[in-house]
Amino acid sequence: MDNADKTRQAWLATLEKFRRDPDRAARPDMWSPSLDAASRDELAAIQNEKLRAAVPFLYENSAFYRRRFERLGLLPSDIRSIDDLEKWPVVDKAEMVADAAAHPPYGTYTTVTDDVWTKRGWMMFSSSGSTGAPRVFRYTHVDREAWAWANARALLAMGFVPGETVFMMTGYGPHVWAWGVQYALEKMELPTIPGGGMDAKARANIILRFAPTILLCTPSYALHLGRLLQSMGHDPAATSVHTLFLAGEPALAVEPTRRRIEALWDARIVEFYGCTEASPHVGGYSCPAQQRDTAPAATHLMEDIQVWEVVDPDTRRTLPEGRRGLTVCTNLNSESSPQLRFLVGDYTTLSTERCACGRTHVRAIGSFAGRVDDLINLRGIKMFPVQIEEAVRALPGTGDEFEIVLSTDDAGLDTMTVRCEHADHASRGTDLSRRLEAEIRSRCEVRVSAEVLAPGTLPKTEFKAQRVKDRRRKA
Ligand SMILES: [Zn+2]
Repeated sequence: MDNADKTRQAWLATLEKFRRDPDRAARPDMWSPSLDAASRDELAAIQNEKLRAAVPFLYENSAFYRRRFERLGLLPSDIRSIDDLEKWPVVDKAEMVADAAAHPPYGTYTTVTDDVWTKRGWMMFSSSGSTGAPRVFRYTHVDREAWAWANARALLAMGFVPGETVFMMTGYGPHVWAWGVQYALEKMELPTIPGGGMDAKARANIILRFAPTILLCTPSYALHLGRLLQSMGHDPAATSVHTLFLAGEPALAVEPTRRRIEALWDARIVEFYGCTEASPHVGGYSCPAQQRDTAPAATHLMEDIQVWEVVDPDTRRTLPEGRRGLTVCTNLNSESSPQLRFLVGDYTTLSTERCACGRTHVRAIGSFAGRVDDLINLRGIKMFPVQIEEAVRALPGTGDEFEIVLSTDDAGLDTMTVRCEHADHASRGTDLSRRLEAEIRSRCEVRVSAEVLAPGTLPKTEFKAQRVKDRRRKA
């Protein structure tokens, strides 16, 4: 057996060792109490033991990692505990994109070889990132199990318990979220209704007829479907649905959006947090102690399977607890894509303060409102699309959809136009656009023009709405 195989066997054995309660929940309210409620010292000990197996595995099985170790003058023995992680500068998407471009089509940042893929390959997924070419990730059946197990732990915490019926309104494309949830639900033996490949009316009828209790969709789609039910003469709040599991766009962290959706459906919102690169599975999940109307939102990050940090956006140095920075993840729960210090890049603040739900894993306070890649820079003023969203949705009389168009005018000046819809045809002719311009100016300190369209003009999307259209002439 060569070093690549030896380190792979050692890594797989370590993964197996810490996959406690692999098949079913140990308690009705907590899947794996010895992990979910482990002491902070125990969590650090597990992270350290996993790192000692993951680092040599990456060195021997990923050309991307091998080159990086050599460039930095480091050996696997230099990173033996979480305290050593700071020796390893964060890996960002640009570095992965460059690797994928230099080594098409898979890049060398994962640890799946063609041989492993042929013999034990499970599924291939693609990053849905907003920057660069899509990067693909091939996963094995080892990942499938690790993934179903991690997601089951998170879903149980979010209220996925016996008695619920889950309606998955997702397209089942090459995105990790829906598939990961699907396999976890299978492990949990919870009944599901797959809702891919049908229009909103068909989905509305399924809700009315078969009474699912939990819906999976994007926040925009939850609004769209709720309005459609209203137009059909039904009240979404009176349906069987009591929980909305939202993904693709931030929901809990965007107060006006959250309030709109909760009021429309009279339902609780829960979310996952994660990314394709550093984890096939969930990285975080809504804390069960987090109820409707309690602010701010809080997301637990799973620390026995990952190491979470926030870093300064400029220096990329780790920030102490309580400081707002960008998320960085070291993934220790995958055969195919364990990553060391991958810059996920969402702004948040971490807290290890004891949580009322009994779980000991660190929480992201305020949840996640914007990825640094999404930052809009207009004439030197920086803002997140969610800030515009907050303005649109805080204003009475606006519809649920909106888009942001950036362009360059004849004088060469970059401008922003926010396009939204009237809530209904009856409200046409109001001074909505002027009020929206003022709202955005006060929230973002930027002058934009607003355009208010007839209801139903803007397209409805099923997965991750493309809100920003950048048509600026590049200098
Ligand atoms: Zn909690």
